Order: sequence, then C-alpha cells, then structure tokens
Amino acid sequence: MNTLPSYNKTFRALGTINSIFIPRCHDIKAVLEAARRVEAIDDHFSAFKQSSDVSLINSNAGKRYVKVHADTIGILKRAVELSEETDGAFDVTTRALVDLWDRAKKQKMIPDKNDIEKACQLVGYQKLLLDEENFRVMLRQKNQQICLGGIAKGYAADEVKRILFEHDISNALINLGGNIFTMGEQQTQKPWIIGIQDPTKITGAFLGTLEMNNETAVTSGSNERFFIKNGRLYHHILDPRTGIPSSCGLLSVTLVGECSMVMDALATAIFVLGMKKGLPLLKRYHAHAIFIGTDGKIFLTKGLHQRFKMADQIDFIHSNTAV
Ligand code: ADP
Ligand code: MG
Repeated sequence: MNTLPSYNKTFRALGTINSIFIPRCHDIKAVLEAARRVEAIDDHFSAFKQSSDVSLINSNAGKRYVKVHADTIGILKRAVELSEETDGAFDVTTRALVDLWDRAKKQKMIPDKNDIEKACQLVGYQKLLLDEENFRVMLRQKNQQICLGGIAKGYAADEVKRILFEHDISNALINLGGNIFTMGEQQTQKPWIIGIQDPTKITGAFLGTLEMNNETAVTSGSNERFFIKNGRLYHHILDPRTGIPSSCGLLSVTLVGECSMVMDALATAIFVLGMKKGLPLLKRYHAHAIFIGTDGKIFLTKGLHQRFKMADQIDFIHSNTAV
C-alpha cells in the first residue's frame, strides 16, 4: 500500500511550544506556511516585542490612534465582543493587572491593596477605541494596556486550520501550547484522541481522554502558571472585578467547540465566572465543556458523555496529543 509519511513541525511562538502534526502529509510547504503564519501573528500580538501592534497601542495609550495590521483589528473586534458577552470576566485590557501579578510572582510577594486598586482602574474594554475602516486603534486612558494572552493562541489555531484546509490537508493535529485543533482523523476510521490534563498533577499527566471530531479543545486552569505564598496558590487568570486571581471553585475548564479563538476567550472567562454562570455562555456559543472543581468533582456537558474516558480506562494515547 502506498502511504505518505507523517510530518511533524514543532516551533516556538506565542511564548510557548507549538506543533502541527499531519499523519499522511502530501504538502510540507503548507505546514511551513501555517507555522510562519503563527510567527507573524506573534510578531503583531506579542507584548514583549517593541515593534508589535500590541506594544504600539500600549505605549500610545491616552495619546493617539496607531495604525495596525488586519490581524490586530480582527482579533480586537472579537475580543471586545467577547469582553461584552462575558460581562468583562474576559477583558482584553487586563494587562496592568497581569503585569502587577507577574511582578508579584517573581518577588513571591502579594501586591499591595492600593496597587491592585490602581491597576483595576486601568481595566475596561469600553475604553478601547477601534477605527475599523482605517485600521487604527487607541486606548483612551493613559497607562491602560491590552493583553492578548487569553485569546491569541486560539486565533492562531484557527488560522493554522484555515491554511491547512486551503491546501487540501484534511487530517491534522494542531497543538499551540495546549490549544488543540483536530482535523479529520488520525487514521481511517480512527478519530483523534487527546489527553485532558489532570490539574492536580504535572503537565502531561492525564485525567482522561477525549475523542475529537473536527473541533478545538481549549483549557484554562490554575495549574499552569502560579506561585504559592502562605499556603495559598496564586495563579495567572485574574478576576478583573477584584484584581486578584479568580476563585470560582474550578481547577480547570476545557471547552470544546468550533472556533478556537472564541473557546480560548470563553475558557478564560468561565474560569473567572465559575460553572453556574458559565453554562449559559456555553449554550450561546454551542460549546461542550469539562469542568474540574476544586472539590475534585468532574462535570461533563451532555455532548461529551460518550467521548470522554477516565484515565484508568485508557489503553493507548497517541504520543502527539498532550494537552
Ligand atoms: P493560557 O494562556 O495559560 O493557556 P488562558 O487562555 O486562560 O490560559 O489565558 C491566560 C492569560 O490571559 C494570562 O496569562 C493573562 O495574560 C491573560 N488574562 C488573565 N486574566 C484575564 C482576564 N480576566 N481576561 C483576559 N485576559 C486575561
Ligand atoms: Mg484563554
């Protein structure tokens, strides 16, 4: 039988490790084009690159509009919509808070109450002005800053999928730092199976597996980036209303749906809002979910009951499927 070899492209971008795996690859160039696209998105969205659109918008806050790429206008438009839809639980202008807590993590010190209040006053997606026609963006308030950390990987995953699809690649496993997109099947009549991280264990330790079908799976959890002070865990998803890491009764939430960008922002928002307030959002965006509570309980929405298997029932996981 004449079968094509598999191809796996691993690369760093968006502050993480990414991979695009094609089980039978007829077009390596398409995969390389998709990887370059992720790198270009990183160039526009990174807050750590001085010339990125995000850095330009931030350094001109309260001063002037800046001209940005189509990518940037596109994602910010959706980010503002999602900020509205989630009542600001996801807020694209949380950067001042993110910075404050990043410093806290480095120094292993809880930020001062006043500093938290000051940073909270700089959060407010309503003050992000988009001039779509002319590709211009401005933050109205001085020192305000945007941050795409909670949505960029999803946007990039959608773009990778689009490019592969345009090049007639119909089977793929895209993994952008844990944002998964699966296309087609792993083998004929063998669906992709991904591992769902156990939030209480080291990365790569799975709680269970999920069968995937041309869709994306995105997780937000308290186990990724955190520090512990006085016996309390401080993680990287912040509640814009209080200015402190969210404490919604969840260890992690995994969303499964069609659009990776939407699932990415929603997962961040639902991690802030908690399961009860998250359920109507799932309905609105046709998403399935796996909630893992701080009490250790697992809750699956209906659509996942047949597709999720607990770890002790697993006999084989494909090696490229780490969530
Ligand atoms: P990860 O990027 O670790 O996979 P998320 O998608 O949940 O997880 O994004 C978390 C990142 O989003 C944080 O590191 C921070 O940059 C940013 N962030 C934190 N809290 C919020 C929030 N409430 N709204 C929007 N972005 C946030
Ligand atoms: Mg997210």
